[in-house]
Order: sequence, then structure tokens, then C-alpha cells
Amino acid sequence: MSKHVTHWIGGKPSDRTAERAGDIYDPATGRVAGTVVLASAADVDAAVAAAKTAFPGWRDASLTKRTKVLFRFRELVEAHTDELARLISAEHGKVVSDAAGEVARGLEVVEFACGIPHLLKGGYSENVSSHVDAYSILQPLGVVAGITPFNFPAMVPMWMFPVAIACGNAFVLKPSEKDPSASVRLAELWAEAGLPDGVFNVLHGDKEAVDGLLRHPDVKAVSFVGSTPVARYVYETAARHGKRVQALGGAKNHMVVLPDADLDLAADAAVSAGFGSAGERCMAISVVVAVDPIGDDLVARIRERVAGLRVGPGDDPESQMGPLVTRAHRDKVASYIDSGVAQGATLAADGREAPVTGGGGEGFWLGPTVLDHVTPGMDAYRDEIFGPVLSVVRVSSYDEAMELISANPYGNGTAIFTNDGGAARRFQNEVEVGMVGVNVPIPVPMAYYSFGGWKASLFGDSHAHGAEGVHFYTRTKAVTARWPDPSHGGVNLGFPTNG
Ligand code: NAD
Repeated sequence: MSKHVTHWIGGKPSDRTAERAGDIYDPATGRVAGTVVLASAADVDAAVAAAKTAFPGWRDASLTKRTKVLFRFRELVEAHTDELARLISAEHGKVVSDAAGEVARGLEVVEFACGIPHLLKGGYSENVSSHVDAYSILQPLGVVAGITPFNFPAMVPMWMFPVAIACGNAFVLKPSEKDPSASVRLAELWAEAGLPDGVFNVLHGDKEAVDGLLRHPDVKAVSFVGSTPVARYVYETAARHGKRVQALGGAKNHMVVLPDADLDLAADAAVSAGFGSAGERCMAISVVVAVDPIGDDLVARIRERVAGLRVGPGDDPESQMGPLVTRAHRDKVASYIDSGVAQGATLAADGREAPVTGGGGEGFWLGPTVLDHVTPGMDAYRDEIFGPVLSVVRVSSYDEAMELISANPYGNGTAIFTNDGGAARRFQNEVEVGMVGVNVPIPVPMAYYSFGGWKASLFGDSHAHGAEGVHFYTRTKAVTARWPDPSHGGVNLGFPTNG
């Protein structure tokens, strides 16, 4: 049965104009599984207007009321994890257990946001001047928008909206048009949790919807996660229209393996972090940097593990890796294997041959691939591939590994594998990357820290969730107060000083 996914505006489904629609695919079969409405300018206006109408009531809802809704939402999302995971898997292609993992990581942000009364405490100073007190309060911004990528259709939106809503804002989410269903189910769960209509809206669409939000005078802030070219565009356009903006971009994450590392641990980590979710993770390891002399040994161990990976449909419990999200993306990823080989890399595993081990059809399949002897000049090294292609670069020293990472334009995540605490400490200190793992390949920060990269992996100055998320979705007001007192001192045209 073909599904049709509509907007969620003002607490209910909406496809008012529905002039345009996009196809939703089942990546495991390659067939169209349904359609999603694509917003027009009028739909953008309707979603923003619903949020604007809801904002004053929610802004003034007590912290007790807000936290009650958040706690209820947390319970509901947890209870519907399997359902959400299956919706995600059907449209994205990732295996159901991995999709359940992303829901769990998103829930951690909801749990963080449940502590909002503590997070919104301001400061208070008594007697800053005679009989004068000063204090600061944190207030929401108003209508804020989130624009998110296809690869985490639940978790990435949940980096944003739990914190934004807990802070008292009204939210318009523009999820990826490739896997839009999870966001609507989350909207229904918000409604069930008692969130007032219009505080959370889902607007489906493509560039037209994004441009409408970036330019809308009633949108006060924009959070974006996606590829670097679009992140840069969103940052510049939203800032030009006077908005606060954080735009997280693409990645090229290096995993350095020093000669003293536990090579079995490193090989397990490289394969898990390289091929989990078919490499469609912004924190996936895409380059293993093997420091001499362990390259051959490490590649042999990686190859052995890759040979045992089972690739198949996301809803098959035996599958470890599913298909890629679209045919176009699958073909683009495969083109990097072709160009890598043409430019001199060797293949330690070739995912183009017999890509599916478990019951795949005409889907967007590409098996795990290991490109060895990759050098920085190759396209496969230079570009973000965002698929199941792991490159191995051989270097002669720690310093050469560090130079490689420093020269790379991206700075999202990185990891070092070593048993030398001093080397790890030096690495953590000097590497120009926002999120660092020590013997941990995918160092995604917990919800109470903040997520974000450096360099071309983030435009703006706030990372997502944690303290920086609260900072992004609030603005501070400083109040100086004097209550009537006989000693007010009368008229004084001088600059206020304190005594
Ligand atoms: P994308 O940039 O193509 O799309 C992201 C969002 O922008 C979608 O909602 C899409 O509809 C919209 N969009 C696409 N093209 C646009 C345009 N020209 N103008 C305006 N809006 C546009 O990204 P994607 O393919 O959905 O996701 C994969 C990318 O996201 C990868 O580059 C990955 O590294 C990145 N990503 C980064 C992080 C991070 O935390 N830094 C997390 C997840 C994904």
C-alpha cells in the first residue's frame, strides 16, 4: 500500500495546497513506496504562523508544565521505539537495530531537556548598588526552525527540538524529504504528550521550503545539519536575514592507528565505524591512518572482518548493513571506488561484486569496500563519500598523521588508537577537530555535552544540545531593579555608577 506523508501544522496533518510531491523509496527493493508533499511558500507561511500563534502561550507555560510534557513525550517515544525504528529503516535502509539506536540517542537529549528548570536558572546579585539588585533571565527566541538530513531522521531533529521546546520556543522542523515519516510520528507523540497545538510543526519539502524558512521574518533562529555546501549556504542566507544560525556540515573522519595499538580492537572499530549504517553517518570513520609498520597487518585484520559482514534488507534481523538511501547516491559512492582504483589505490575488499549476502532485490546495494594505499591527492580521499567505502592511508609517523588531519578541510570527528597515554593526550590537545575519541571510533558526545565539529564541519558558533544548545535557543536579559526607598538620591544626570 502506497503511503502519502503530509505536513503537521498547528497540531494536525495538513496538505492544504499540495501542489508538488516527491517520491519516497524502499531502498531495499528500489521501488517507490509512497509520496511526500513538498511545501510551497504558502505552506511555509502557514507553518510559521501556527508556531507564532502558539509561542506566547508556550513561552509563559510554567517550567513545571513544560517538564511534565517533556517527561510524557520521553515515555511515549521510548514505548514506540520499535515502531519508529521500522519507519526509519523502511525509508532510509539502515537495519532496524541501528535505527532503534538512533532513537535511543535522540531520547537522551529529551532526558537532558527534562532538566530544563535547572538549565534556565539565571544569576542574581543583591545590592549591586545601594538598594539595587541585578539579575539575569533566559528567555526563548520565538519561532525557530530546524532543517535536517536524511541519515538520522529521528536523532538529528532530536538534537534540536527537545531543547528548543523546553526553552519555551515554538519549532518548525523541515526534515529530509527522503525519509519523512518518523518526524510526523514524533509530532503525533508530542500531541499525545500534551504539547499545545502549533508548538511543534513539521513542514516537508526541498529547497523551496528551506529558502522560505531562511527568509521568513518571523523565524528567529535556524539550526541546520547536512552537507557542507548547503550548510554554508544556509549559514550565509539565514545570517543575511538577521537570524541566529548554527549549520553543521559534512565530515571526513580519520582514525589514526599507532604501532603500539591493540590491532584487533582497532580493526573491530574501523569496520564498525566504517560500515555501520552503510557509512552514512557524519561520524563514520572514512579514513584509517595506519602508522608504519602496522599497515599490512591492520588491513589483513580489517579484510577478514569485512568478509564476514552480512548485507541485506534493514528489516531482516540477520542483516548488519542495509542498502544506500537512493540509487543516485549508491552510484555516486560506487564512482569513488572506480576513481580510487584508476588513481592508484588497491582494493582490499570490493563491494561492487556480489554486494548483497542476504535476500536483496533490485535495491540500492553496495557492499563494504576497503580502498588501500589511498593518497591525499585522490578523489576518494578528498571528498566526503558518505557510503561503505573505507580508505586506508599509510604514513610513516605520528607527525605525518597529524599533518594529514590538519590539512583536511573538515573537522567533525577523529579517533586515535594507541596504548600510549602520552601520545593520546598529545593528540587530543593538538588535533583541530571538534570531537575526539581515544580508542573510541565514534565519539558522539553525550546529550549533556555538545555535538559539533570545527572548520568546514560547522558554520556558526554554537554546537548542538548540551549547554550550547540551551544557549543557542535562549537570549539573556539583564535586569537592574530598585524598589522605592527614601534614599533614592533625586535627579542625577551623571553616568550610573555604583556606590
Ligand atoms: P543535504 O545537505 O543534501 O540535505 C540536508 C537538508 O537540506 C535536507 O533537509 C534537504 O532537503 C535540504 N537541502 C538540500 N539541498 C538544498 C539546497 N540546495 N538548498 C537548501 N536546502 C537544501 O544532506 P543529506 O544528503 O540529507 O545528508 C548527508 C549530509 O549530512 C552529509 O554531508 C553528512 O556529513 C551531513 N551530516 C552532518 C552531520 C553533522 O553533525 N555534522 C550529521 C548528519 C549528517
